[in-house]
Amino acid sequence: MKCPHGGNFSKGELRQFGNIELSPSAGVLNYGQGLFEGLKAYRKQDGNILLFRPDENALRLRMGAERMCMPAPTVEQFVEAVKNTVLANEHWIPPTGKGSLYIRPLLMGSGPVLGIAPAPEYTFLIFVTPVGNYFKEGIAPINLVIETDVHRASPGGTGGVKSIGNYAAVLQAQTAAKAKGYSDVLYLDCVHKKYLEEVSSCNVFVVKGNVIATPAITGTILPGITRKSIIDVALNQGFEVEERLVTVDELLNADEIFCTGTAVVVSPVGSITYHSKRMSYGDGRIGNVSQQLLTALTKLQMGLVEDNMDWIVELK
Ligand code: PMP
Repeated sequence: MKCPHGGNFSKGELRQFGNIELSPSAGVLNYGQGLFEGLKAYRKQDGNILLFRPDENALRLRMGAERMCMPAPTVEQFVEAVKNTVLANEHWIPPTGKGSLYIRPLLMGSGPVLGIAPAPEYTFLIFVTPVGNYFKEGIAPINLVIETDVHRASPGGTGGVKSIGNYAAVLQAQTAAKAKGYSDVLYLDCVHKKYLEEVSSCNVFVVKGNVIATPAITGTILPGITRKSIIDVALNQGFEVEERLVTVDELLNADEIFCTGTAVVVSPVGSITYHSKRMSYGDGRIGNVSQQLLTALTKLQMGLVEDNMDWIVELK
């Protein structure tokens, strides 16, 4: 789908996956004017296809587009485009419990621009690919390292939207962490360097007794759709949930830590290394709270329990 600056997106079309042509002076290539989304389609046991809260992805893309001076498809256009793309790729969706179809919508300034300015034309496209687990550990606990010198986002920046540049900012620290055997990096705020922010691709939760704390959405953290959903699932299950500033010191006394995201779903954290000190959680196994929330969410996403929240969109 294409759209001029200040215009509206026209109806899209389905195309075979392949390379796209862009001007060397496209806004996205020169000034990073790009946003993406990520969501999944699951196969229900009766063969139907389920999407999880696609309207939330549409709304987040629209919020990001405002920050990045881009036009965006309407919620209806976005959801329709996702549905059509998934239906056209139905054969790639694994059976229930064997994985899912990852859906990647991309919005970019595709028109040519030389001085710093919003591009004159935009492209919205969606591609899909079947996926299993995000971390090689599967749902076995992951090992994080806290990075104090590199930050993925700063106040007033674009950390709160799914801007492509945010991911370029994490590559160096993430690559170094992986080379040392860690699964990923946990970032701290860049002002006080003591409040938890998030991981390169997921939000973080700290469990202590019946209380589950997660960093508040302050503008430097991506408002994850899984985060928002897990908060509701946890409240429904009788946990207390606190969205607030969470200090790095709280990791010392935590019972469990877990991460949430479309790709990682609910991933337990087995250890966090901070200034060479390693804090461990859960004896190599997923904790009870993380397991309880993971089970509740995945059953809902796969259509194995009734959707009382009205989160599931059935495609057939
Ligand atoms: N934080 C970051 C930086 C991410 O890239 C993601 C993945 N989209 C998340 C959090 C989790 O967001 P969601 O639950 O919407 O996938």
